[in-house]
Amino acid sequence: MRQLLIATANAHKIEEIRQILSDFPVELCDLRDFPRVEAPDETGATYAENALLKARFYSKHTGLAALSDDSGLEVDGLDGAPGLYSARFGGDDMPHSEKILKVLRLLEEQPYRPRTARFRCCSTIVDPSTRQTWSHEATCEGYIAPGARGSEGFGYDPIFQVDEKRTMAELSADEKHQISHRGKSLRGLLDQFLTQ
Ligand code: IMP
Repeated sequence: MRQLLIATANAHKIEEIRQILSDFPVELCDLRDFPRVEAPDETGATYAENALLKARFYSKHTGLAALSDDSGLEVDGLDGAPGLYSARFGGDDMPHSEKILKVLRLLEEQPYRPRTARFRCCSTIVDPSTRQTWSHEATCEGYIAPGARGSEGFGYDPIFQVDEKRTMAELSADEKHQISHRGKSLRGLLDQFLTQ
């Protein structure tokens, strides 16, 4: 079975990636097995550049095939913000409960702008032994709810409305992974990785 390092320091992402990949024939480990490896600066101009930069960095420092994901929330009425800067929106230390309020407040200031939005995820694997890379980007379309609802998931899930009734944070983990940017991106990525 091929081994893959889940190369993200975000505990929510580690959990989701493990759940999404649970049916794939890969042996997973994660960065908790490499506590001395520090995170690289995310200096890319796109999700794809950041995902590649992280996967390259962690594969180089561990010698393992490394899987990274770079993702974010794009709100049309905010010209695509917070986008690539979703994790840093309002400052690295601002909790997501406040980042969410900031998004809602910015939209309230501009009531005629669209609330349509999407999550985007690019996931990438770098294999240091062959120098091969694989990458797959996917989105999940929705819109920004009037207020936060639900306690599942993480990040901006409580304000991301996926159908007439529910936000992403009101879905079970399985329901989220079926439709989510991360679920689609990782399934596409693993299909490529395992056929080569
Ligand atoms: P990254 O670690 O630089 O890729 O930043 C990802 C950020 O995008 C997270 O910290 C969240 O703010 C947001 N994000 C990505 N995926 C999700 C998701 O599935 N639900 C909610 N927020 C997400």
